[in-house]
Amino acid sequence: MVETPAPVTNLKEVCMSVFKRPKGAGQAPAAPERYVTLYARPEAGAWGYLTITVGGDQWGYYVREVPTQFGVAAYLLEKADPGTDAEGERYAVHFYADGSATCECRGFLRWGHCKHTDGLAALRERKLL
Ligand SMILES: [Zn+2]
Repeated sequence: MVETPAPVTNLKEVCMSVFKRPKGAGQAPAAPERYVTLYARPEAGAWGYLTITVGGDQWGYYVREVPTQFGVAAYLLEKADPGTDAEGERYAVHFYADGSATCECRGFLRWGHCKHTDGLAALRERKLL
């Protein structure tokens, strides 16, 4: 069944990145500020921890890199507090050689991007993942 990740105790590495705005139209003019904060890097199969902030809302996720046959990298995001949201609690995010990314969440299915792909992309751009 679903394994419960151990709490992250190593919070030494605190990084913050401002999300890149999604390309193209369809973005509301007054989009809220979005941030991703990495508290612990995922290491060799172990879980890291990050938070994603959109406006006044914040979500915590455990994150780890997983092997993939598709694309250049894949990560598993598991919501740290799954009780707050009915949309699901674990997403696989894949990155591809052309820079695109996919996610399993409903936001991605609807919009073609989501806070998970955008957040992880921002961290990858800064060589934090
Ligand atoms: Zn997503």
